[in-house]
Amino acid sequence: MADLTLRGMVIRTVDYRDNDRILTLFTAEQGRVDAKARNCRKATSPLLACTQPFTYGEYQLFYHKNKYIIDQGEVLESFYPLREDVGRFAAASLCAALCLEGVQAEESSEAIFSLLYHTLSFLTYGENDPGDLTACFLVRFLSLAGFRPAITHCAVCGRDLREDPLIRFLPDRGGAVCMACSPVGRRIGKTALEAMRRMLLLDDDQLGRVRMKEPLRGEVLSHLVPYAKLYLPGIEKAAALFASLHMPPQATEQE
Ligand SMILES: [Zn+2]
Repeated sequence: MADLTLRGMVIRTVDYRDNDRILTLFTAEQGRVDAKARNCRKATSPLLACTQPFTYGEYQLFYHKNKYIIDQGEVLESFYPLREDVGRFAAASLCAALCLEGVQAEESSEAIFSLLYHTLSFLTYGENDPGDLTACFLVRFLSLAGFRPAITHCAVCGRDLREDPLIRFLPDRGGAVCMACSPVGRRIGKTALEAMRRMLLLDDDQLGRVRMKEPLRGEVLSHLVPYAKLYLPGIEKAAALFASLHMPPQATEQE
């Protein structure tokens, strides 16, 4: 009998020795769980399929010397096509990196788990632009994980910004800021803020409804990705890969 059976998604893999791998599983009930998978990289290993990035599986674990060891695993959903499309892979990697940084071990995270599961499903099987799904994931994840950016009210004075003609977005101040509270900093368009507000209102199974056009998509991402990097600096590598494939060169207007 295994010590623990759990369902989770592989959000990080670290290879060691010739054929071993440490997985970080993201589970709805217990947050992040690290587990060793011995010999799983051998072509004949029964663990080969269930230890691939983004796989959602059911795992049976033993507890040995303060570590979990995977004894058996069954693939429930491989999200395999993500591994064949670099643009979708980069989007999924950024979502996984956010969960790795923003979800604690041994802490129930059902809402974030559902968000990741649905986002990966749409990234894998949907027709959406990966940038749209990632923008939607970002704003919803940041809200659920306790880093919600101000998008309706000024982050400094709290004033309702929805009628303001000019608004800035300043990650270090907490999001959208009125012109009176900050005379400098990058501006954000009203449409970009409205798009973020609408993304927060969807249910997880409606994420496929997010459809933006350029340059709106690039504008939303160019605010949300640096915001997320400021509060969760560990996502930097995944964010850089994502940006190289999905974001226009950094806008630098300062007024
Ligand atoms: Zn203000």
